[in-house]
Amino acid sequence: MAGEKMSAPQKSPASPDALESAYKPRIADIFVPNNQIREFKRKHSLQLVNLRNGVRIIGISQGTPDSLDTRIEYTMPYGGAEDPKGQEGITHFLEHMFVPKILRQQAGLLGVRVNAHTSAMEVAQVADGLVNPEVPEYGLKPLLPSLRDALFYPLQQIDNPEAAVNGERGAILGEITRKKADHSRTVWDIADARVYALDNPSAIDAIGTEESVSAITAEDIARHAENVLIPDGLTIRVFTEGKATSRRQVIQELSHLFKLLPREWKKSKRPDWEKLAKLHPDVYKGGMHQIDTGLRNNQVSALIFWPVNNELFGQSHFALRYFTGLMRQRLHLMVRDQGLGYVDNAGMREPGGENALFYTQIDFRKWSAENPYGFKPEEFPEKFSQIMDDLLGNGNEAEKITDADIEEYTKSQKIGMRARPTSREQILNWAEYGLRKFGQMVDAEKVNDIYTSVTPQAVIQWRDTLAKQQPMMLLVGDLPDANKAEK
Ligand SMILES: [Zn+2]
Repeated sequence: MAGEKMSAPQKSPASPDALESAYKPRIADIFVPNNQIREFKRKHSLQLVNLRNGVRIIGISQGTPDSLDTRIEYTMPYGGAEDPKGQEGITHFLEHMFVPKILRQQAGLLGVRVNAHTSAMEVAQVADGLVNPEVPEYGLKPLLPSLRDALFYPLQQIDNPEAAVNGERGAILGEITRKKADHSRTVWDIADARVYALDNPSAIDAIGTEESVSAITAEDIARHAENVLIPDGLTIRVFTEGKATSRRQVIQELSHLFKLLPREWKKSKRPDWEKLAKLHPDVYKGGMHQIDTGLRNNQVSALIFWPVNNELFGQSHFALRYFTGLMRQRLHLMVRDQGLGYVDNAGMREPGGENALFYTQIDFRKWSAENPYGFKPEEFPEKFSQIMDDLLGNGNEAEKITDADIEEYTKSQKIGMRARPTSREQILNWAEYGLRKFGQMVDAEKVNDIYTSVTPQAVIQWRDTLAKQQPMMLLVGDLPDANKAEK
C-alpha cells in the first residue's frame, strides 16, 4: 500500500461500530399510505394504471396552456449488474438495439427524439415529442407501437440483425475507448472499485469490456432480450405539459399496446438495498493511497471519503446534504485561494441502505518543468488534510465551518426550497421513483417537509461526526511511481 509513506491524519479510523453512535433521528415516512392512494391520486390528478401482466403506467399533466410537449420513459428493472459472466455489457448492448436506425428515422419524421440509457440497476428508453389531438398523425402517438416493439422485440424489427449488431458494436467499442482516455471517468472507476464491496452493483460498470463486447453475438442479445424483457416490472412514466386529455389518450393507447404482452410469472424485481449499502472494508480503515490511472496527462484527482450512517430520506440524510453544500462552497474558496486546483465535486454517494459515502474531490495539475504552476503530488495529501482539519475544526480555528455558518446556510436552504412550489413533474417523479424502487408511491410533499425541517443542530452534528473520523483518501492520476509502491 502506498499510504504508509505519506503522512496520515492523526484521528482514529472509522469503524462501523463507531458510526453507530452518529446522529440518528426518526425514520421519516415518505410513502403515501395504502388507504390514501385514491385520495392522493385525485388530489394531484395523477393517473396510475396497473396492467395484469405487471406493467405499471403512471402519468401526470402540467396543464400548461398551449404546450404539447410530452415525455414517455420506459424503465426496466434490469441493469449491467446482472450481466452474465463473460457477457459484461450485454444489457448496454441490448439498450443500443432499443434505438435502431429505422426507429430513429421514423421518429425523426414525426419530430420525436428517442434515447436510451443503462445503469447498473436499470435500462430505459425515453421518447420526447408532441401530442396534438388536432394533428394525430404527427408526434408521439403514431410512434407508440414502434417504441414498444423496439423495446420488446428489438432484433425482430431489423432486416439484418448481424449487421446492425456489428454496427452498434463499433459504436460501443468507441465509447469504451473514449471512456478509457477520460481522466475523470477513469478516476471514478478506480475509486468505485476501492470504496464499494465487490458484489455492490454500484461497483459494476454497465458498459462492459473490450473483450466481452467483442464476443457478444446477435444470438446472445436475442437470448438476453428474451430473459430480461418481460412485462412484469416495467414502469412507464408519462408527463405531458399540456392538457390532461392528451395524457389520458396516451395512457389509454399504452395500456392497449402493453396489455397484449404475455403475463410472466417471474417475481417482481426490487433493488437489494443491503447489497447496495455494502462498502469495501478498506474504506473503514482510512489512510491514504496513491493509484496510477496510466494516463500520462499530468492530471491528478484527490478524493476523500467518509463512510457515514445514512438514513435514506430521513432528516439526517438531508442534514448531511446541507453540510455537503456548505462544505463545497467553503472548500472551493480555500482550494482556489491556495492555488491547489479546483473542486470538481463534493457530494454524497448514497446508493441505498444505511451506508453512504460523503466525499469531496479536488482536481489539480501536476508540477513539472513545463508546468511550473502545477502542484507536487507528494505535498498534496498533507495540504489537503490540513484544509479538511481546518474546515472541520481540528486545525486552524479561523477557517472552521462554525455553528453560525451552518445556521445561516440551513436557513438559506429552507428559504430556497419553500419559495419553489413542488411542481407537478416533481410529484410524478417522486411517485414513480417510489413505485419502481419500493413498490409504494412516494409523496413529494412529504419529502419536501422533511427537507425543510432540518435543524442547524443536525447539520452541526454531522460536522462533528466527520471531524472525529479518519477518512479514506485516494490520490488518483498520472502517478507512474504509485503502482510500484501499491504492490
Ligand atoms: Zn452506449
